[in-house]
Amino acid sequence: MTQMKPKLATVWLDGCSGCHMSLLDIDERIIDLVNAVDIVHSPVVDPKTFPDDVLATLVEGAVSSEHDYELAHLIRRRSKLVIALGDCAVTGNVPAMRNPFKIDQLLQRAYVENATANQGVPTVGIPPLRKTARPLHEIIKVDLFIPGCPPPADAIHHILTELLAGRTPDTGTVTRFGL
Ligand code: SF4
Repeated sequence: MTQMKPKLATVWLDGCSGCHMSLLDIDERIIDLVNAVDIVHSPVVDPKTFPDDVLATLVEGAVSSEHDYELAHLIRRRSKLVIALGDCAVTGNVPAMRNPFKIDQLLQRAYVENATANQGVPTVGIPPLRKTARPLHEIIKVDLFIPGCPPPADAIHHILTELLAGRTPDTGTVTRFGL
Protein backbone atom coordinates (compact mmCIF):
# COMPACT_ATOMS: atom_id res chain seq x y z
CA MET A 1 0.00 0.00 0.00
CA THR A 2 1.34 3.47 -0.87
CA GLN A 3 2.07 5.59 2.16
CA MET A 4 0.30 8.96 2.24
CA LYS A 5 2.65 11.90 2.14
CA PRO A 6 2.14 14.73 4.62
CA LYS A 7 0.11 17.60 3.24
CA LEU A 8 1.74 21.02 2.91
CA ALA A 9 -0.15 24.19 2.00
CA THR A 10 0.86 27.76 1.32
CA VAL A 11 -1.47 30.73 1.37
CA TRP A 12 -1.10 34.27 0.09
CA LEU A 13 -3.05 36.85 2.11
CA ASP A 14 -2.14 40.57 2.02
CA GLY A 15 1.46 40.32 0.80
CA CYS A 16 3.40 41.10 -2.35
CA SER A 17 4.17 37.45 -3.27
CA GLY A 18 7.83 38.02 -2.42
CA CYS A 19 7.71 35.37 0.30
CA HIS A 20 6.39 32.82 -2.19
CA MET A 21 9.15 33.88 -4.61
CA SER A 22 11.64 33.16 -1.84
CA LEU A 23 10.09 29.72 -1.32
CA LEU A 24 10.56 29.02 -5.03
CA ASP A 25 14.16 30.25 -4.72
CA ILE A 26 15.08 27.01 -2.98
CA ASP A 27 15.69 26.05 -6.62
CA GLU A 28 16.32 22.37 -7.36
CA ARG A 29 15.74 21.44 -3.70
CA ILE A 30 12.05 21.93 -4.46
CA ILE A 31 12.17 18.54 -6.22
CA ASP A 32 13.05 16.82 -2.93
CA LEU A 33 10.35 18.83 -1.21
CA VAL A 34 7.59 17.85 -3.64
CA ASN A 35 8.73 14.24 -3.39
CA ALA A 36 8.35 14.41 0.40
CA VAL A 37 4.99 16.20 0.65
CA ASP A 38 1.73 16.73 -1.16
CA ILE A 39 1.35 20.44 -1.89
CA VAL A 40 -2.40 20.48 -1.56
CA HIS A 41 -3.15 24.20 -1.67
CA SER A 42 -0.99 27.08 -2.87
CA PRO A 43 -0.85 29.90 -5.43
CA VAL A 44 1.53 27.59 -7.32
CA VAL A 45 -0.97 24.71 -7.59
CA ASP A 46 -4.58 24.72 -8.70
CA PRO A 47 -6.99 23.53 -5.96
CA LYS A 48 -9.44 26.24 -4.97
CA THR A 49 -10.63 24.74 -1.70
CA PHE A 50 -8.55 24.29 1.42
CA PRO A 51 -8.38 20.58 2.38
CA ASP A 52 -8.54 18.85 5.77
CA ASP A 53 -5.65 17.32 7.71
CA VAL A 54 -2.85 19.56 6.49
CA LEU A 55 0.42 19.05 8.35
CA ALA A 56 1.70 22.60 7.90
CA THR A 57 0.47 25.76 6.23
CA LEU A 58 2.82 28.61 5.38
CA VAL A 59 0.94 31.91 5.41
CA GLU A 60 2.31 34.94 3.59
CA GLY A 61 0.82 38.36 4.26
CA ALA A 62 -1.19 40.21 6.85
CA VAL A 63 -4.89 39.71 7.50
CA SER A 64 -6.47 42.69 5.75
CA SER A 65 -9.79 41.72 4.21
CA GLU A 66 -12.83 39.77 5.34
CA HIS A 67 -11.70 37.03 2.94
CA ASP A 68 -8.27 36.91 4.63
CA TYR A 69 -9.97 36.69 8.02
CA GLU A 70 -12.23 33.80 7.05
CA LEU A 71 -9.43 31.95 5.28
CA ALA A 72 -7.12 32.34 8.30
CA HIS A 73 -9.71 30.67 10.53
CA LEU A 74 -10.30 27.89 8.00
CA ILE A 75 -6.55 27.26 7.79
CA ARG A 76 -6.32 27.08 11.56
CA ARG A 77 -9.11 24.53 11.79
CA ARG A 78 -7.59 22.33 9.09
CA SER A 79 -3.82 22.59 9.78
CA LYS A 80 -1.78 20.98 12.50
CA LEU A 81 0.88 23.71 12.21
CA VAL A 82 0.35 27.28 11.04
CA ILE A 83 3.53 29.11 10.08
CA ALA A 84 3.67 32.89 9.63
CA LEU A 85 5.94 33.34 6.61
CA GLY A 86 7.59 36.75 6.35
CA ASP A 87 7.33 40.06 8.13
CA CYS A 88 3.85 40.94 6.79
CA ALA A 89 2.39 37.81 8.42
CA VAL A 90 4.60 38.17 11.50
CA THR A 91 4.17 41.90 12.26
CA GLY A 92 1.79 43.41 9.69
CA ASN A 93 4.81 45.14 8.04
CA VAL A 94 3.93 46.90 4.75
CA PRO A 95 0.15 46.21 4.67
CA ALA A 96 -0.17 47.68 8.18
CA MET A 97 1.10 51.04 6.89
CA ARG A 98 -2.49 51.72 5.91
CA ASN A 99 -3.74 51.40 9.47
CA PRO A 100 -3.67 55.12 10.42
CA PHE A 101 -6.07 55.90 7.54
CA LYS A 102 -9.78 55.33 7.14
CA ILE A 103 -10.81 52.77 4.53
CA ASP A 104 -12.71 55.39 2.48
CA GLN A 105 -9.58 57.56 2.33
CA LEU A 106 -7.48 54.61 1.19
CA LEU A 107 -9.86 53.56 -1.56
CA GLN A 108 -10.22 57.12 -2.76
CA ARG A 109 -6.46 57.56 -2.89
CA ALA A 110 -5.77 54.25 -4.64
CA TYR A 111 -8.60 54.05 -7.12
CA VAL A 112 -9.46 57.71 -7.81
CA GLU A 113 -6.69 60.19 -6.96
CA ASN A 114 -3.81 57.97 -8.14
CA ALA A 115 -5.65 56.33 -11.04
CA THR A 116 -4.80 57.44 -14.54
CA ALA A 117 -7.58 55.37 -16.13
CA ASN A 118 -10.93 53.88 -15.07
CA GLN A 119 -11.15 56.06 -11.98
CA GLY A 120 -13.63 54.69 -9.45
CA VAL A 121 -13.70 52.42 -6.44
CA PRO A 122 -14.47 48.84 -7.57
CA THR A 123 -17.61 47.35 -6.11
CA VAL A 124 -17.67 43.85 -7.62
CA GLY A 125 -15.40 40.89 -6.84
CA ILE A 126 -13.33 42.72 -4.22
CA PRO A 127 -13.57 41.42 -0.62
CA PRO A 128 -14.29 44.20 1.88
CA LEU A 129 -11.26 45.49 3.76
CA ARG A 130 -11.16 45.15 7.52
CA LYS A 131 -10.57 48.31 9.52
CA THR A 132 -6.87 47.50 9.96
CA ALA A 133 -4.34 45.01 8.58
CA ARG A 134 -3.23 42.71 11.41
CA PRO A 135 -0.41 40.20 11.88
CA LEU A 136 -1.59 36.61 11.67
CA HIS A 137 -1.05 35.77 15.35
CA GLU A 138 -3.57 38.46 16.36
CA ILE A 139 -6.26 36.59 14.42
CA ILE A 140 -5.38 32.91 14.94
CA LYS A 141 -2.87 30.87 16.93
CA VAL A 142 0.45 30.65 15.09
CA ASP A 143 2.88 27.81 15.79
CA LEU A 144 6.01 29.11 14.10
CA PHE A 145 7.28 32.48 12.87
CA ILE A 146 9.67 32.93 9.96
CA PRO A 147 10.58 36.64 9.87
CA GLY A 148 12.28 38.39 6.98
CA CYS A 149 11.16 40.50 4.03
CA PRO A 150 11.27 38.07 2.47
CA PRO A 151 12.75 35.28 4.58
CA PRO A 152 15.80 33.79 2.84
CA ALA A 153 15.19 30.69 0.73
CA ASP A 154 17.78 28.75 2.73
CA ALA A 155 15.93 29.53 5.95
CA ILE A 156 12.59 28.37 4.51
CA HIS A 157 14.22 25.20 3.23
CA HIS A 158 15.94 24.49 6.55
CA ILE A 159 12.73 25.00 8.54
CA LEU A 160 10.64 22.78 6.25
CA THR A 161 13.32 20.09 6.28
CA GLU A 162 13.43 20.12 10.07
CA LEU A 163 9.64 19.93 10.33
CA LEU A 164 9.43 17.03 7.91
CA ALA A 165 12.08 15.22 9.95
CA GLY A 166 9.82 15.58 12.98
CA ARG A 167 11.99 18.19 14.70
CA THR A 168 11.02 21.67 15.91
CA PRO A 169 13.21 24.15 14.05
CA ASP A 170 14.89 27.02 15.87
CA THR A 171 13.91 29.79 13.47
CA GLY A 172 16.01 32.36 15.34
CA THR A 173 19.22 30.79 14.08
CA VAL A 174 18.35 31.19 10.38
CA THR A 175 16.20 34.33 10.16
CA ARG A 176 16.02 37.93 11.22
CA PHE A 177 13.54 40.75 10.67
CA GLY A 178 13.83 42.73 7.44
CA LEU A 179 16.48 40.46 5.96
FE1 SF4 B 1 6.43 40.96 0.42
FE2 SF4 B 1 8.18 41.35 2.40
FE3 SF4 B 1 5.59 41.13 2.95
FE4 SF4 B 1 6.94 38.97 2.15
S1 SF4 B 1 7.28 40.10 4.05
S2 SF4 B 1 4.90 39.62 1.43
S3 SF4 B 1 8.40 39.92 0.69
S4 SF4 B 1 6.56 42.79 1.73
